[in-house]
This record gives sequence, C-alpha cells and structure tokens, in this order.
Amino acid sequence: MLKLCTLSSGSSGNAVLAQADGTKILIDCGITGKAASDRLCAIGVDPSELDAIVVTHEHIDHIRGVGVLSRRYGLPVYASVGTWNGMIDTVGAIAQENIHYIEADTPFAVDDAIIFPFATSHDANESLGFTVSDGKKCLSLATDLGVVDRYVYDNIRGSELLVLEANHDENMLLNGPYPQRLKERIFSDSGHLSNRICGAICGRFLNEGGREKRIILGHLSQENNTPEMAFDTVRRSIEHAGGRVGGDIFVTVAGRGDPSPILEA
Ligand SMILES: [Zn+2]
Ligand SMILES: [Zn+2]
Repeated sequence: MLKLCTLSSGSSGNAVLAQADGTKILIDCGITGKAASDRLCAIGVDPSELDAIVVTHEHIDHIRGVGVLSRRYGLPVYASVGTWNGMIDTVGAIAQENIHYIEADTPFAVDDAIIFPFATSHDANESLGFTVSDGKKCLSLATDLGVVDRYVYDNIRGSELLVLEANHDENMLLNGPYPQRLKERIFSDSGHLSNRICGAICGRFLNEGGREKRIILGHLSQENNTPEMAFDTVRRSIEHAGGRVGGDIFVTVAGRGDPSPILEA
C-alpha cells in the first residue's frame, strides 16, 4: 500500500509524505519543524510516527525543518554526500547515528520502504529524485530539475503515484519581472520544469499505456505560474495524447501552504 501527499510545495518550502505499507517517510522538510508537524497532524499523522527524512538537495526550501524534526523525533536523515556538505551548517547538529549517506542508482531500505534515488539536473551539489516502493507498486517525486531525460523518465515511468514539477508558464517567465540572469537559470537544463514540459511527460505516460497514474503538480512558482495555468497546460497535453483527465489519469495541483489530497495506490 502506498500513499503520497504534499504538505507544502513551492519556493517557500517543500515537504512530501510518502508511505509504503507501515513506513512513513518525509521527503524534504523545507518548512519549519512546527509547520510540518501541524500539517502532518492535519492529515491524521502524528509526527512521531515518521520513520525517516530523505532529502533531495540542500536548497533552503527543502531543508528548513530537517534538523529540528530529526532532533525532536530521533529521525534518521538520508542525503547524498554533496547534499550533506551543502546543508550541514544550516540544519545544525544531527546525531551521528542519524546521518546516512546515499547515492544515485543505489537503492536502500527503510523498514517496509525500498527507496531508489536517481540523479537530477539542478543547480545544487548532488541533487536526487526518489522512487519509493512497497515491493509491489511505486511512487515517485521529481521536482527541482531542469530536464527529464531518458534516465529520469525510466526512473519514474513505472510509478502509479507521482509528484511532478510544473514550475512555471514559459510565457509568464519570459515576459515577467525576473532579471535576465535568473530567467536563464530557471529555463536552463539545471533549472526548473515548465508546465509545458510537465504536460509533455504526462502525455508520454499515456502514449506508453500509463493510464492508472495519479499525479500531483508541484513546486509552482508564485510569480510565474498559477494553479489554473499548470492544470490546464497538463490537461491539454493529456487530451492531445488521447487521454482524459479524471478518466484516464488523475491530476491535482499541490497547495503552497496546505496539504494536497492524499493519493493512494
Ligand atoms: Zn526547490
Ligand atoms: Zn532547488
């Protein structure tokens, strides 16, 4: 049994609850420990039930509450060497036994959950995305990445539940107020995925027979996107691929400050 829910999504803070059978994993905690605890309680999960925190990369919108939660609940924290190097000063002291190093393409287990880290292209030290399995089905998180190449696609294509990045509307970003350098960074291969590319991936899932998927669109830009634009762009791509949102494939948009629906598989 798998469950997936975003507690918070976007540049102000990201945190995702992934559950595989009895094991509850927090992927990133870019909101404060208190906010994460409150939102877990709001979806009926006591934070003391968490089994681990897994971190994608060291940007502050992914690590703000990692140290507090690890210390309060004695939680092991899993991150790449590069991510640990980038976040250790910010997260503060973590008990030695709770520091775990992971790397792309080397799966590891946390109780009932098997976790497959994969490398993402992002302007961070050693960023990762994750696929989590209960041994039967899979869920994936792929946000904070500039491209979805064959390698990333192969890592997420088999998952029933997904959080996929739909960061910006390309025209809004192009014509918006950001300085040129920042626009170029976001558009680059180590930046963030646009609604259009996210939609193209969803269309590709359908073309390859992946009609059972349930997808949360996440990490939306506050300045260069709206939930309606992200949803509509992805819906149009799915329809273009011959599918129907709500019929073939379920799509919802992650809230910035409140939990998404809990997806189950
Ligand atoms: Zn981020
Ligand atoms: Zn980032």
